[in-house]
Amino acid sequence: VGATNDEESAAKVAAANADSGAPTIFDKIIAKEIPSSIVYEDDMVLAFRDINPQAPIHVVLIPKNRDGLTQLGKAESRHMEILGQLLYAAKKVAEKEGILDGFRVVINNGPDGCQSVYHLHLHVLGGRQMKWPPG
Ligand code: IMP
Repeated sequence: VGATNDEESAAKVAAANADSGAPTIFDKIIAKEIPSSIVYEDDMVLAFRDINPQAPIHVVLIPKNRDGLTQLGKAESRHMEILGQLLYAAKKVAEKEGILDGFRVVINNGPDGCQSVYHLHLHVLGGRQMKWPPG
């Protein structure tokens, strides 16, 4: 049985947006050149509501300084601190949003992982019963 049309189109969209190292829309969000609904911010991390939410609460967390971290698969030892800060900020976002009883943290990595923006980011999803396995 082959891939469904949905799966094929998701893979095509992701592949079309492969990691080129170019600036992304998240740079414009960091620079406040385009508006975003900011949920949490500190020196290193910015968290804002996803424009295409997949759950009642869907927040994207990014490092303010990408520093080569286009995707988790490009992580190097110098990124360990920011990776920890992003995960801890995810907990703070979940707390702030009142979903500590149940939420999900997702990192889509690379074309097969359906990553569409090549600036490392965590998704925090909640506010509904999550399902497993994810698609
Ligand atoms: P990815 O598919 O894991 O790379 O996630 C990228 C996410 O960024 C998607 O869930 C998009 O909906 C979201 N996104 C893209 N552009 C914007 C924007 O301008 N504001 C907020 N979220 C965005």
